[in-house]
Amino acid sequence: MVVVGAGPAGASLALLLARRGLEVSLIDATGRGGRPFRGEGLMPSGLAALAAMSLEPLPAAVAQRPLTAWSFFLDGQVLFEAPEPMGSPVPCTLIDQESLLQELLLQAGRQPGFQFLGGHPATDLLLRDGRIAGVRLADGTGLEAALVVACDGRDSLLRRKAGLALESAPSPLDVLWFRLEAPGADAIGAWLDGRFVTVVGAAGSYALFPSARGGVQLGWAIAPERPAQAPIPASPGGWLELWARDAPEPLARRLRALAATTVQGPVRLPVRVGLCPRWQRPGLLLLGDAAHPMSPLRAQGINMALRDALVAARHLGPALLCGGPAAMDAATAAIAAERLPEIRRIQQLQGAEARRADLLGRQHLLRGLLARTARWSGPLLARRWRATQRELRDGTEAIATDL
Ligand SMILES: Cc1cc2nc3c(=O)[nH]c(=O)nc-3n(C[C@H](O)[C@H](O)[C@H](O)COP(=O)(O)OP(=O)(O)OC[C@H]3O[C@@H](n4cnc5c(N)ncnc54)[C@H](O)[C@@H]3O)c2cc1C
Repeated sequence: MVVVGAGPAGASLALLLARRGLEVSLIDATGRGGRPFRGEGLMPSGLAALAAMSLEPLPAAVAQRPLTAWSFFLDGQVLFEAPEPMGSPVPCTLIDQESLLQELLLQAGRQPGFQFLGGHPATDLLLRDGRIAGVRLADGTGLEAALVVACDGRDSLLRRKAGLALESAPSPLDVLWFRLEAPGADAIGAWLDGRFVTVVGAAGSYALFPSARGGVQLGWAIAPERPAQAPIPASPGGWLELWARDAPEPLARRLRALAATTVQGPVRLPVRVGLCPRWQRPGLLLLGDAAHPMSPLRAQGINMALRDALVAARHLGPALLCGGPAAMDAATAAIAAERLPEIRRIQQLQGAEARRADLLGRQHLLRGLLARTARWSGPLLARRWRATQRELRDGTEAIATDL
């Protein structure tokens, strides 16, 4: 079989199927590594999926750091703080996604039937007798396969080539992504103390957390179709001042003391959210963001991609080992049916969270009121927020972990 895309969905599925003794070609448009900014948050649901893949505890080669808490600040005042693990068996953990993907490729490379073709974009699908029968690569090579699994991300070319419709949901934000490099950013890392901090104020809203790789990652939310609330700074020093304006005093002081040379970025990451009602065609299955582009809110995309791969491997293993085309088509339909309810629910919860954040960003009177009354409104809001997080942390469906 051919898996297109070596992100979390494709790399983990390829490993699971190669471990079962199947011939798997994993193709990626880039070589090993490449994207400088990758999500790092793994929820307990994603960690459980890795455990079912015998990858938890994570190998030492994968840089990792458990989160200690989620902290929210409005107009420089603390609104509330929710310590990890918030009732889950394990805390949300930041991981270096790049080294996790390398580890998946390394382990898959030990299986005799596995091959990785990096730097080979897939450009088209091969068709035979009404079935998808493989992929065409950019150099013109045709790779035939009994099944193509498209894990080629939110802008999936193969989804479009297969004519599988994506129902897009409106996304209220894009993200400008920055890295504050160590050792300059160590003072901010020490203040964060393992927390994921969200700051909302008059100038805009941003989140920052200590990167598993060292230094600090910072995402600045920007409305794609509205003018920014404050002008976009032209220099790193301008960004530091903008972030400091709405930050609590100890963070503001550290931001203003930071050398502009420690600020890397921004990279603009357009956020897309959507869901394909149908994930399969004869000979083809979509998984991960290709089937359901996820918002970055509350770190769901990697987790959902890993859970997709787990469910897919359980259904596809037997169908690929001894079934024909009918068994394969039944397996791909069963995978989509099993995964759709959780993806729908998680996207609903992310949408609700995005609407709350958007409201706070726009309504300065409401924000000011909450900031002034944080002493008693904070605990109430914390209780409500924690209640909405259970499914986002632990998943909404129990998925079988036997492979
Ligand atoms: C700003 C931002 C922050 C995020 N932070 C988090 C987070 O902290 N935690 C979290 O869980 N999720 C996060 N997400 C979401 C998460 O990154 C995605 O949901 C997740 O990576 C999806 O995994 P995937 O394997 O489906 O696709 P991807 O990770 O997008 O991988 C797709 C792969 O396909 C390859 N590819 C694409 N086209 C082709 C082609 N034609 N031929 C061959 N290869 C191709 C690409 O090179 C890539 O390697 C974030 C998203 C954004 C935008």
